[in-house]
Amino acid sequence: MQPFQHQAATSVADTIAILSTHKGRAKLMAGGTDLLGILKTRATVAYPKVVVNIKSIAGLDKIQSDGQGLSLGALTRLADIVDSEVIRDAYPILAEAAASVAMPQIRNVGTIGGNLAQETRCWYFRYPHSIGGRIMCKRKGEAACLAVKGDNRYHAIFGGKKCFAVCPSDMAVALAALDAEIQISGAKGQRSVAVTGFYHPLGNVLETDEMITGIKVPRPAPNNRQVFIKHRVRDAIDFATVSVGLVVSMDAKTVADVRVVLGAVASGPYRATDAEAALVGRKLDPAVIEKAAEASVAGAVPLSGNAYKVDITKTLVRQALQI
Ligand SMILES: Cc1cc2nc3c(=O)[nH]c(=O)nc-3n(C[C@H](O)[C@H](O)[C@H](O)COP(=O)(O)OP(=O)(O)OC[C@H]3O[C@@H](n4cnc5c(N)ncnc54)[C@H](O)[C@@H]3O)c2cc1C
Repeated sequence: MQPFQHQAATSVADTIAILSTHKGRAKLMAGGTDLLGILKTRATVAYPKVVVNIKSIAGLDKIQSDGQGLSLGALTRLADIVDSEVIRDAYPILAEAAASVAMPQIRNVGTIGGNLAQETRCWYFRYPHSIGGRIMCKRKGEAACLAVKGDNRYHAIFGGKKCFAVCPSDMAVALAALDAEIQISGAKGQRSVAVTGFYHPLGNVLETDEMITGIKVPRPAPNNRQVFIKHRVRDAIDFATVSVGLVVSMDAKTVADVRVVLGAVASGPYRATDAEAALVGRKLDPAVIEKAAEASVAGAVPLSGNAYKVDITKTLVRQALQI
């Protein structure tokens, strides 16, 4: 690891001031479970001069709920999401997704803000500097995406043009299925961004002087059902190969509203709008479920080694609708 300065932030305003001073050379650290790995391997090109500890900011770890919905502070730990009775009762998809992340040690330290802003697991991007030098790629500002001609078994099947790395966040999938918004503060003030709009093919929309302060989740309609299913190579601890987040509300026996969100198939959580259109206003009978499962992969363009993700996606969507 290269040396860096360590500063403990006292408030959101203090954090923004430090970020603004160092213009892209300061990195936020919450639990550090992702950041420290990135620093150790020196995967990124611009090594930070300053690491800003934000766990020292009081009050950013609250879970609050009222009739309008749920608020999560950016420093809410994943373990607290798993354990929260309010969440398990009204937002069970969040507890399920959080429980599927890594192992207890990571969930006891890792935060929701860090989970959303974590770096991709693409093996070209993460290749350690210590083994023959870092591998440059499109995400690091150079050359083409190496997954296109390389080993792309875990890469994107939707929308990858510049970079085919996928978003590894399970929480992003569950939050997108709930139509949640990310609250951001920066030198220019505050803004909110839908979880589905937070990511782009080379990362996320955060400016170098911005931080996530919280997440707002609207209360789902009555009679809703929430499902999170994650397919992974190792069940014990692993990132998703494909995941599905489903929130469906019923009007008697027909679908009144539905969000079908796919994970690990694109640079962010991917809303399967064709599948949603195949479901709204219909009964969840086998023919409709089959049509929605087929529609969930409309527009998928697999690479040479990841066409299997198309089949897994269809299977997970089918399973989610049958639960
Ligand atoms: C072995 C292992 C297995 C894992 N498995 C999974 C998995 O199955 N599913 C999954 O979803 N994740 C998985 N993860 C990722 C894990 O969930 C994240 O490492 C963790 O949630 C990050 O939270 P943190 O607080 O430690 O973030 P940090 O490591 O502190 O930060 C991560 C990144 O987010 C930025 N950041 C942190 N907080 C903020 C903020 N408030 N505003 C803006 N930027 C911020 C940091 O600058 C950094 O770039 C795994 C990680 C490990 C090490």
